[in-house]
Amino acid sequence: MLYSELASAFERLDATSSRLEMTSILSEFFRSLDPGSLRDAVYLSQGKLHPDYFPQEFGMADKLVLRAVAMASAKPYEEVEKLWIKEGDPGTVAELLIKGRGQMTLFSEPLTLERVVNVLTSIENTEGKDSQDKKMKQLFLLLRESGPVESKYLCRIVTGRMRVGAGAMTILDALSEAFATREGRPDVERAYNVTCDLGLVAKTIASGGMDAIRGVHVSVGSPIKVMLAERLSSIPLIMERMGGRCAMEFKYDGIRLQAHISKDSVRLYSRRLEDLTSNFPDVAAELRACCKAEEAIIEGECVAVDPSTGAMLPFQTVTHRRKKHGMDKAVEDYPVRMFMFDILFIDGTDMTSRPFTERRDKLAGAFELSEKIGLTEMEVVEGPEEGEAFFARALAAKSEGVMAKSLHQESVYRAGSRGFLWIKYKKDYEAALTDSFDLAVVGAFYGMGKRAGKYGALLMAIFDSDTGRYSTVCKLGTGFDDAFLDNLPEMMESHLSKGRPSDVDAQMTPDIWFFPAVVLEVVAAEISLSPIHTAAFGVVKEDAGLGLRFPRFTGRVRSDKGPEQCTTAAELAEMYWAQDTADGPDS
Ligand code: ATP
Repeated sequence: MLYSELASAFERLDATSSRLEMTSILSEFFRSLDPGSLRDAVYLSQGKLHPDYFPQEFGMADKLVLRAVAMASAKPYEEVEKLWIKEGDPGTVAELLIKGRGQMTLFSEPLTLERVVNVLTSIENTEGKDSQDKKMKQLFLLLRESGPVESKYLCRIVTGRMRVGAGAMTILDALSEAFATREGRPDVERAYNVTCDLGLVAKTIASGGMDAIRGVHVSVGSPIKVMLAERLSSIPLIMERMGGRCAMEFKYDGIRLQAHISKDSVRLYSRRLEDLTSNFPDVAAELRACCKAEEAIIEGECVAVDPSTGAMLPFQTVTHRRKKHGMDKAVEDYPVRMFMFDILFIDGTDMTSRPFTERRDKLAGAFELSEKIGLTEMEVVEGPEEGEAFFARALAAKSEGVMAKSLHQESVYRAGSRGFLWIKYKKDYEAALTDSFDLAVVGAFYGMGKRAGKYGALLMAIFDSDTGRYSTVCKLGTGFDDAFLDNLPEMMESHLSKGRPSDVDAQMTPDIWFFPAVVLEVVAAEISLSPIHTAAFGVVKEDAGLGLRFPRFTGRVRSDKGPEQCTTAAELAEMYWAQDTADGPDS
């Protein structure tokens, strides 16, 4: 397959913001590909060569890419850099200059997708002495053989700015449309949720159809999208929703880890699929030592504990384990305990389709418990009184609340989905009107007075998982301390965007735009209808979005969440309606 065909599909995607149109462009394109090319095309549409859980590092900063562009377009570097300062994106610079270069007749063989993938893989793997020069030259060779549009996307891929707006859900829509019926869509999504590998799903459906897709199972080594909990505003409401009886567990405030235990190794993944094994080597070793099975996938919450008393410590303490350096000391200084709550696989058996009680029994039987590895505290409760009593016990033990879990036969592990099989209830809900929000930073406003010369406020957005777009929900200027504000420009630097990113919907214009990447936890007094914010626009009222009143940063940067794991438009609307009910029908 020619790389130019892929680049031209990207170009058509880039020109539209309609998800329906993107789906139809992609499905038509996907149908024309062989399964192998399809897998690579799907990865590249996400700017990657691998599944989601592989950290993609080409190791090419903008200025290195500009050097390759200068060579390929035969322009002085200074001229290229000047254009980059104006345009902001090396991809656009490459497109403009290579257009001006005219047709190269030197190469008779057109550039294939296979060659592009090979060279990008080689760029990714080039390390050591002179690696920067070597990477630059390999990119130059590709650019020399590419036209303007092809060059644009090559530069966007290697600089990590491949944003054609087609997120994972759009790719799944397109794959279903191309190779299955509409009814097959949930199975396609399930296959993705249990593998986190869009390329694998694409190749499987293209070569084996829906039967092959239904045969995709969880496996040790490829992380599974985590199951998430809904929220309700009181224990009696939870008990009612659960049919009067459910399992309740302490809700621990730590870091969620998914452990993939194999015969002689263990890998630990965060909920955003980062490999955190090197941050918790003690947990990994203990899990292997305590697991009676040869292979297993389990989930638990890793919490910092006081070494002398064993008491649980606040969330901030365990975040010391997320450092990049000095891990040996952090392991010693910040002891942790893993509270396991689920098992997704054990010795050849996919447990995700088994009911909660069966999973819990299996989990309990699969481990010798130790000081470092335990099970979450759990009780089967009946009625609101027992529920309230368990909640009080959870708070006394310094948990942040409870997790209610359905005891029904259908209470399977729903990878990647949020539903009422699990319902969370935190002590914060008693004081605040709603749960906290996890919001993406999409813009900043310059400060005034005491904050002159710094960012004074941030423009925050939610994520709409249906459309794959971000929409603004508040301007956030409260809750920051001086150290945070001083650090902010550096934290946001690599996410700067020259203009409004194409996947952000906003009516407000900040002084600076950012690509959605950094997630902050925010609390607010109320969710109200908003004429300026675009969140859940038209959902509650035609011509109005939803906004947060009196938003305040809690001090918690959600580095364990990616922007696509922010509070969603559907959740926001639900919370809006829930708050109305709480205030009574007349309010
Ligand atoms: P969400 O996970 O719902 O997006 P969040 O990450 O902001 O939200 P919370 O709302 O605080 O987290 O609650 C869910 C999280 O609680 C889980 O993802 C998990 O990390 C943690 N957790 C703690 N104890 C348990 C438990 N017993 N069972 C399941 N999850 C638990």
